[in-house]
Amino acid sequence: MELYNTLSKRIEEFVPENGVVKMYTCGPTVYHYAHIGNLRTYLFEDVLEKSLRYLGYPVKRCMNITDVGHLENDSDDGEDKMLKGAKREGKTVWEIAEHYTNTFFKDCEKLNIQKPEIVEKATDHVAEYIQMIQALEAKGYTYFAEGNVYFDVSKITGYFELSGKKEEDLKVAVREGVSVDQNKKSPFDFVLWFTKSKFEHQAMKWESPWGVGYPGWHIECSAIALKYLGERVDIHCGGVDNIFPHHTNEIAQAESYLGHKWVDFWCHGEHLNDQSGKMSKSKGEFLTVSLLEEKGYNPLCYRYFCLGSHYRNQLVFSYESLEMASKAYEKLINRIKEMRSIEEEGKTDPERVEVYRRKFKEALANDLNTSNALTVLYEVLKDETMSNHEKLNLVDSFDEVLSLSLTEEVNEEKITIGEQMVMLINAGEEKEELLALVDLRMKAKQEKDFSRADALREKIEALGFLIKDGRDQILVSRK
Ligand code: AMP
Ligand code: ZN
Repeated sequence: MELYNTLSKRIEEFVPENGVVKMYTCGPTVYHYAHIGNLRTYLFEDVLEKSLRYLGYPVKRCMNITDVGHLENDSDDGEDKMLKGAKREGKTVWEIAEHYTNTFFKDCEKLNIQKPEIVEKATDHVAEYIQMIQALEAKGYTYFAEGNVYFDVSKITGYFELSGKKEEDLKVAVREGVSVDQNKKSPFDFVLWFTKSKFEHQAMKWESPWGVGYPGWHIECSAIALKYLGERVDIHCGGVDNIFPHHTNEIAQAESYLGHKWVDFWCHGEHLNDQSGKMSKSKGEFLTVSLLEEKGYNPLCYRYFCLGSHYRNQLVFSYESLEMASKAYEKLINRIKEMRSIEEEGKTDPERVEVYRRKFKEALANDLNTSNALTVLYEVLKDETMSNHEKLNLVDSFDEVLSLSLTEEVNEEKITIGEQMVMLINAGEEKEELLALVDLRMKAKQEKDFSRADALREKIEALGFLIKDGRDQILVSRK
């Protein structure tokens, strides 16, 4: 496989160090819902992992859950994101972390993003951060100022290699909209351990040799990666915004700790932007998977939309382009459904099947060219020399990577109750019971009897379904 390496700024042949690919992906900060931009990055990482497996590389993948230490600004400035979430919702930080970790994985499931083999919470590894910081301290890479432990960037060389930017340009980036921490000897120094000097009201805090406090965000990923993947990582991923300062700081601390090179390939996914520019959780429309569902879109349309462009290209989200992707996806699914209904056995041409399989693999091996991989899928469907049986086998096989549920039976039914459109997805045997409950709940809401409406929602959930009130329709789908 050939992959673009942010470190060398070139496409290089990827060879894992020890047969098994050790892959680390930075996980979500669980203070709010993930927006579909965040999910584009997880989708890219999912496709990368599945492509590696499809091409025959075994993969061991680890991801963290950032439930402490990530401040509003990546350069140690602003409020702790978790604390902000807790204040917003009047809950504890622990409740916020649990809730948004669950919703993150539910969103991933809806997008057919597979949960990595190893998922570890930042708050479960405080002892590891302390050990790593102490080792860095003993080697002379840190200093202590006003209660915080800082990594001293002047002690290393090559700090700017990953970002490929000039020191002066990065200084401007660090300064932008941020009050630089006066304790720092250099604006690039970063916090390994905060004590209460940063926030009096920090809820998540632990004893440490430097006082009661909490870890910086960067140390979390490095220590977790070291614990679960060992001293060498083959691929470390994230979104492009992670290149600086997060991954730059990760290299600084991990390589200083280890005394040797740590990560072979750094792979970064470009951003999804909205039409006004940067996607945000606080300004404009907060684009979540649930919002797309409420508007009547199957989340897999979004997956299809992302697969159509290269992970290293910026992608602009608009409802017009999602609508186009949704139509194309629906057409694709229907075409495959039709093929299944007239599936004939017999006639096989193993060579032809192999040609397509090879073309599909070549597309993936070419720095994850998913849009070419989709083109190969369409070529297969169009090929009149193959039987439907052969085609379906290939579609099934390609779907191991594409994960578009291409051959899965999805039963969607639109039903109107009075004036209201109700979309039932895979209702199965519970259909009549569900419709009766939906009807009763609608009536309860009309009568403004909200506690009864809530009780009916709970009954629907107890049957194993979720109900969502969209603008144009009520959506009932299996959990
Ligand atoms: P966070 O939960 O803020 O730590 O971000 C989770 C992931 O989403 C990180 O890997 C970011 O690089 C990535 N990310 C943030 N914004 C976007 C965006 N607009 N498009 C794609 N990925 C993003
Ligand atoms: Zn990280």
